[in-house]
Amino acid sequence: MSTSVTAAIKSQEPLTKSMKCLVKEDLDKDGLSLRTDIAQPEPKYDEVKIKVLATSVCGTDKSIFNSGSSEGIRKEMKRYVGPEGYKPIVVGHEFCGVIEETGQGVKRDNWKDVPDHLVLEKGDYVTAEMHLSCGHCMLCKTGNEHICMNVKVKGVHLDGCFAHSVVVPYKNVILLGKNGDQSLLPPRLGAMLDAFGNAVHTVQEADVRGKSVAILGAGPLGLMATFLCRDFGASRIYLTEAADIDRRFKLGQEFGASECFDISKGSDVLYRSVEKHEISSNGVDVVIEMSGSPSAYTDAFRIVRNGGIVLLLGITRKPLSEFDIANAVIWKGVTVKGIFGRKMFDTWETMLRLLRSDRFDLKNRLSQIIGSRDYTLNEYQEAFAHLSKGTEMKLVFEPQKGV
Ligand SMILES: [Zn+2]
Ligand SMILES: [Zn+2]
Repeated sequence: MSTSVTAAIKSQEPLTKSMKCLVKEDLDKDGLSLRTDIAQPEPKYDEVKIKVLATSVCGTDKSIFNSGSSEGIRKEMKRYVGPEGYKPIVVGHEFCGVIEETGQGVKRDNWKDVPDHLVLEKGDYVTAEMHLSCGHCMLCKTGNEHICMNVKVKGVHLDGCFAHSVVVPYKNVILLGKNGDQSLLPPRLGAMLDAFGNAVHTVQEADVRGKSVAILGAGPLGLMATFLCRDFGASRIYLTEAADIDRRFKLGQEFGASECFDISKGSDVLYRSVEKHEISSNGVDVVIEMSGSPSAYTDAFRIVRNGGIVLLLGITRKPLSEFDIANAVIWKGVTVKGIFGRKMFDTWETMLRLLRSDRFDLKNRLSQIIGSRDYTLNEYQEAFAHLSKGTEMKLVFEPQKGV
């Protein structure tokens, strides 16, 4: 009998504890289910179990919530489903927490020669990359794990983190503070690092120093990209948005946008401003698309200069029905690049450096993007209603709170 089982019997605790979590039960129906009867996950040999202190909600979670009306996400969530059909999973993939338990292969004794401050142990404050790469394919073997052909995303294909606890392979865990030290950043911001990583990865894919940049979409990622572009030395930043513009443009201007454009009634003002300011070429050097809105693709290729770069992170709900590739890309000599997730683990290392530096005011900026209050898992209906109405841009659940 294992010692943990003996200990559990002695303390009369149930052998497998259950937990509260948000589950996607039926892909054909909108909504999530709050469950309290799901067994807490047990770490396998190379995994750690993390108690989730804070977990944030993003556009992907919104699509999963509304999966009844989104064929794209239904298809994605069934990507690895066998003949037995879809099995409900715990949703959520952006989080931070404290290591509760380590698998046998993650014990301190296995790495006697590694310095203490680099080794994961029970009680450490951590976050994690939730894209699990296969380690076998050509992309994994050539430093491109972020586009592994067999990637599985926790919270999309496997159980995620809208839950009391989650298990993650130790290789995917990012140490934020030893022994629960939260001085680097508080949990409600630690939960946003997955999203922040998308923005860091995107901006790093173009050298923006001295360049003009247009950021399409002033949601959380567009706003993060705005301050990153300014910090990384962009000469001029155009920012567009079609909804909730007062709040978003106020932040955008504070974060470094040179000009903000309400494109809800069309993009002519944006086009005219680009013509006026980009006098030595026929457009902006770098376009960063973060909205996924069909009209943004027209804007992106209309305003990019010949020989410019278009970085695509936003995800369209439906395939684009028409795209004039000859005029948009070929004859303009444009470089187009899709951005998925975060580079493993270059992006995370960059984020940690930015966070440790006091030059970027990151904690203050990130906390302005997040909602004014955090939610318990019990309040998930209210939280998702705020996100779909647009009354909040980014929200955090605290799974350890609430009855
Ligand atoms: Zn996300
Ligand atoms: Zn792979």
